[in-house]
Amino acid sequence: MATSFFSGPEKKSLPTSRQQTVSKPLQEQRTDSQQLEASNPDDATRYRLRTVVLDAGHGGKDIGCSGKAVHEADVALAIILDLGRRIKEGYPGVRVIYTRRTNVFVELDERAAIANRNHADLFISVHCNAGPHASHGTEVWCMGPHKTEANLGVAKRENAVILQEKDYQRRYDGFNPNSPQGNILFSLFQSAYITNSLRLAQRIDRQFRTSVGRSSRGVKQAGFIVLWKSTMPSVLVESGFLTNPTEENYLDDKAGQQAIAGGIYHAFREYKHDLEGGPAE
Ligand SMILES: [Zn+2]
Repeated sequence: MATSFFSGPEKKSLPTSRQQTVSKPLQEQRTDSQQLEASNPDDATRYRLRTVVLDAGHGGKDIGCSGKAVHEADVALAIILDLGRRIKEGYPGVRVIYTRRTNVFVELDERAAIANRNHADLFISVHCNAGPHASHGTEVWCMGPHKTEANLGVAKRENAVILQEKDYQRRYDGFNPNSPQGNILFSLFQSAYITNSLRLAQRIDRQFRTSVGRSSRGVKQAGFIVLWKSTMPSVLVESGFLTNPTEENYLDDKAGQQAIAGGIYHAFREYKHDLEGGPAE
């Protein structure tokens, strides 16, 4: 039912322009943010990033994609737990909430609901990719209309888990992950947060390319259920291809997992400082 796509919880105000144009350059967004901060010099009213929800993709009966030796669910959890440790250490004032800390199954809409119930300021979901042997590199995704069939394919794979969920037709309003119309409608829910979602995504992508030294496939958009249902800036990180032997080895290794988590953490720090416009807490 299309009308229900508009009936989400009330949207929180964020320190960014109301003109939520996807193609708006990052430089311009920053200027908007600075102008708003200048008009609210009172520290008590200044925006603070207080709660982050960390989402390890898959889990339990849903192992995600697999390499020769490892499953996506396990790699995603290792990266998410390491990222959470870093945020807690660096920012004791920030509340870190996990959608799962162990190998359990959590429905896609429940992951977003956890973030909504806790009034999270940010939602970060970590996954691993699958494809032909030669495919490699990181991707950082935001909610939005897909521009290519390949982009739609990644979203379809990550959304397909709803078919393993009980009563999915009622939970997702009969949404069919193979329907192009359904993926386009997805973007309406998240549109208020797209500017900040892209801002974080670009920072994560830059960290992956520079300090972490990964091959990057860039920042992309498509209709991911787990992002669509969340009412705050949200990104989904594909940390590499488990179907590529070199990347599988990297992601199966603790040092590789820590490097990916470190890259996301540094981007989180930049994003937080950028929005708050002041020194670290
Ligand atoms: Zn996944």
